[in-house]
Amino acid sequence: MTTADGTIRLLMELRSQGVSDMAVLKALEQTPRDGFVSADQAERAWENTALPIGCGQTISQPIVVGLMTQKLDLGERMRVLEVGTGSGYQAAILARLVRRVYTVERHADLLREAHARFESLKLHNITTRRGDGSRGWPEQAPFDRIMVTAAAETMPEALIEQLAPGGIMVVPVGTDTWDQKLYRVERTEDGYDSVPFLDVRFVPLVVESRSA
Ligand code: SAH
Repeated sequence: MTTADGTIRLLMELRSQGVSDMAVLKALEQTPRDGFVSADQAERAWENTALPIGCGQTISQPIVVGLMTQKLDLGERMRVLEVGTGSGYQAAILARLVRRVYTVERHADLLREAHARFESLKLHNITTRRGDGSRGWPEQAPFDRIMVTAAAETMPEALIEQLAPGGIMVVPVGTDTWDQKLYRVERTEDGYDSVPFLDVRFVPLVVESRSA
């Protein structure tokens, strides 16, 4: 299957499963997923499934990428933090929708590969950093939006604090692989509101020890 055929088929599937935001669909269309997996997985890039990307990690299922991105209600002037760069696929999609994306990954090897992909796609509005994203990126906060692509055991309050007032975060929360939910979290004047909207299965958000 060609890249174009694969992308069209995948987009139709995502539309039928609830991705309706035209800007999000366009960003998905402009970001062929086969470029974000290794050569031996490229054949499967059009399937609506998560795929291995090395270091025991996965590129998220396309429908989850579509629904999470849509839920953030993005605007083109926004600054967005992503926690868990992985392959860089989600960051590349965000980069087509907002002014600047800050993305943090704990695995240096994955980050290096993702960075090379951003360069070759000429996505110059993505800033990368190796580190523990569970602490956010305090030097660049506050963010208009935050997307977490690894499952936190509990609601990550440190990240909520880095949201601008009225800012929105989408985050998978749950300890068990079989009992995780995606939450939409909105920062309010005196705290936050959180609403679960989808059952998901993400790799865990690894909190690195301070002394490491
Ligand atoms: N958004 C990615 C999916 C990544 S899977 C994509 O589009 O491909 C989750 C990623 O989160 C993994 O690469 C994992 O290494 C990373 N991760 C887990 N805990 C982390 C942490 N505390 N800080 C930064 N990255 C983390």
